[in-house]
Amino acid sequence: MSGYRGRIAPTPTGLLHVGHSRTFAQAAERALRANGQLIFRIEDLDSHRCRNEFAQRSMDDCRWLGFEWNEGPDVGGPFGPYTQSQRINYYLEIWKQLHATGLIYPCDKSRKDVERALVAPHVEDDQEPIFPIEFRSDKNLGSDATEPGNQNWRFRVPLGEEIKFVDQLQDPQSFTSGKDFGDFLVWRKDGFPSYELAVVADDHAMKITEVVRGADLLLSTARQILLYRALNWTAPQWAHVALVKDAQGQRLAKRTQGLSIQELREKGHTPEAVLSAPLDTLSK
Ligand code: GLU
Repeated sequence: MSGYRGRIAPTPTGLLHVGHSRTFAQAAERALRANGQLIFRIEDLDSHRCRNEFAQRSMDDCRWLGFEWNEGPDVGGPFGPYTQSQRINYYLEIWKQLHATGLIYPCDKSRKDVERALVAPHVEDDQEPIFPIEFRSDKNLGSDATEPGNQNWRFRVPLGEEIKFVDQLQDPQSFTSGKDFGDFLVWRKDGFPSYELAVVADDHAMKITEVVRGADLLLSTARQILLYRALNWTAPQWAHVALVKDAQGQRLAKRTQGLSIQELREKGHTPEAVLSAPLDTLSK
């Protein structure tokens, strides 16, 4: 067994579709090839949109596709719980660590932004608006807080810094903080961490060595690198999988009718076909 630790981390807001299956297949394959471990994690922080039945279904679908994981909600493991909604106390600890750096501040902001921070901001469908610099709070605001309370907290990004990273599946990446993305949410006023904070906290706690996920999260990786740095943690390797598009060039997440794993199973397609057949042969 090598030290490699990868993960599959679905958000259970609906049925998994062919796009997920292909991203997760890469995660499973890379873990297998590295003779490493694979972790399954349920990212269900958005309590309004996530459902237990989808979480269970995602595990069933992934097993049917042939993926095997060493740790997860159903099999346990040393770094559990593997369901984000059960890890709030841990995220609060990380909020405290971030707060101690002086890099986060409480912030009044629109409801729309709050919604967007709940799930991973997939670049193509809703690019998160860049937080206007004039809304940024003064340095010491919130410095005496001992807990997040009922307010949003943002991370103050360095202005104009190039955040570069090597990607195992893409060209070398570079984003400019303050330009490509602004001060981002780390905590929400309804008592939950943002996607960026939760995912970094979990990947660190679960000792993930390589993050394999969709290429729509490349920009989020730049934000996450800033969190790793602030917390003085070593960042994992990154491998962003190109997204599956339909014949019209649309990202699958938008139109998945007939392409959920469940429907494809019911139609009699094999796991091999779901994982590799051209989309038009599957949607027939
Ligand atoms: N849970 C996220 C999603 O389904 C993926 C997050 C990640 O892999 O970092 O979009």
